[in-house]
Amino acid sequence: MPQDVIGPETVVSLHYTLRNDAGSVIDTSREREPLEYLHGVGEIVPGLERALTGKAPGAKLAVVVPPEDGYGPRDPNGKQEFPREDFPEDLTIEPGMQIVVEDEDGEEVPCWVLAADARVVTLDLNHPLAGERLHFDVEVVAVRAATAEELEHGHAHGPHGHGHDDEDEDADI
Ligand code: ZN
Repeated sequence: MPQDVIGPETVVSLHYTLRNDAGSVIDTSREREPLEYLHGVGEIVPGLERALTGKAPGAKLAVVVPPEDGYGPRDPNGKQEFPREDFPEDLTIEPGMQIVVEDEDGEEVPCWVLAADARVVTLDLNHPLAGERLHFDVEVVAVRAATAEELEHGHAHGPHGHGHDDEDEDADI
């Protein structure tokens, strides 16, 4: 496969705008640097990754991703309440923020804060976009071969090299 075509072991730069079914913009890269990701490792939602395979710089595409190829279906039992004292006292907890909690097996589970007061923190195990159909407008800006280090880490490194806390990097889409 030519090197400037999106496939395994390539790093893709793209601009995207994400809208929901109602047409509201949920997120866009248009006022930022393009998003860079390592293709084929699940850094972005599966439905979008699949649609991008084989595309080259300059390609523009509109992709509609159903929940099962996006952030999954919404689990109606995903909402759970925890005593505030289970969390560090000095941690500011606000609706909309993401918190990683450990389940009984010690697995790290990402949660989103629905509500918090002095006594109770209500968390949702669902990604905020779970159950949503995602409408992406995407423009492929650049495609390059991934470096050995990127392949080893399983994610793209920015144009300025390796400047991240390894556990801290999370794709937005
Ligand atoms: Zn890395």
